[in-house]
Amino acid sequence: MRLEYRGETALHHDPVNRNKIGTFADFDWRRHDTILLDMDGTLLDLAYDNYFWLELVPRHLARIRRLPEHRVRAELLQRYTARKGSLAWYCLDHWEEELGLDIRALKSASCHRVAFLPGAREFLAAVVAHPVQVVLVTNAHGHTLDIKRDVTGLNRFFSRFVSSHDFGYAKEQAPFWPALQAQLGFDPENTLFIDDSPAVLDAAVDFGIGSVVAVTRPDTRLPATELPHHRVVEGVGNLLQ
Ligand SMILES: [Mg+2]
Repeated sequence: MRLEYRGETALHHDPVNRNKIGTFADFDWRRHDTILLDMDGTLLDLAYDNYFWLELVPRHLARIRRLPEHRVRAELLQRYTARKGSLAWYCLDHWEEELGLDIRALKSASCHRVAFLPGAREFLAAVVAHPVQVVLVTNAHGHTLDIKRDVTGLNRFFSRFVSSHDFGYAKEQAPFWPALQAQLGFDPENTLFIDDSPAVLDAAVDFGIGSVVAVTRPDTRLPATELPHHRVVEGVGNLLQ
C-alpha cells in the first residue's frame, strides 16, 4: 500500500490543479475538527456496486425482456451515462420506474457481497477514538444506506449519516455544500473530506473544504485510477501510516 503525492511539479505546472494543500509530510488527519467520509468506494468496496449495476441488473433485465445480456448491458450503459452526476443516478425510485425492476429486492438479495475496503475498518476505529466530528456523507439512496449499514455495522463508527437525497442535490452539485454546512455547522478550513469521485472532490474544493483527499482504488477488482488534481491515497488505511 502506498501514500502518493503528485507533488510540487504538478502544482506548479498544472493550471487546473485544485489542490491547495502541501505534502503529506505536514498532513495529519487528527488536526481537523470535522471529518466527512464518503461511503461507496471510500469505506466500502465499489466492487459490489459495479457488480450490481453492470452485472446483476443487466442479467435480470435480459431475462425479463428475453433479450441477449450484452445488448441490454449496452443500453443500460447509455442510460447510466445520461444520468451521471445527477441525483437520479443514485436514486432507486428513478431506476425502478425507468427499468421496471424491483431494485430494492435485488439489493436485499445481493447484500452479502457488501464489504469494507482494505484498511477502512482500521481507519474508522482510529478516527472514532479522537475527539472529532465524524460524519458519513453519501450520495447513496436511503434504502441502500440502510442495507449497507446493517450488513457492515457502520453504526458502530458513526453517529451521523447524511444522504444527499435529503438535500435534493448530489455531492457533485455546488448547492449541496452550503446545505450540508448549514446542517452540520462545520468550519470548512478545519474540515477533512475523503471521497473517490473526481467530480465530487472538485465540488468540495470549490466550496472551500480545507483538506480534500482522493481514494484511487475504490474497487478492489480494478487497478488504481489516476487523479492528478488531488492529493491521493490508494485507500483510507494509508492515512494511518
Ligand atoms: Mg464514492
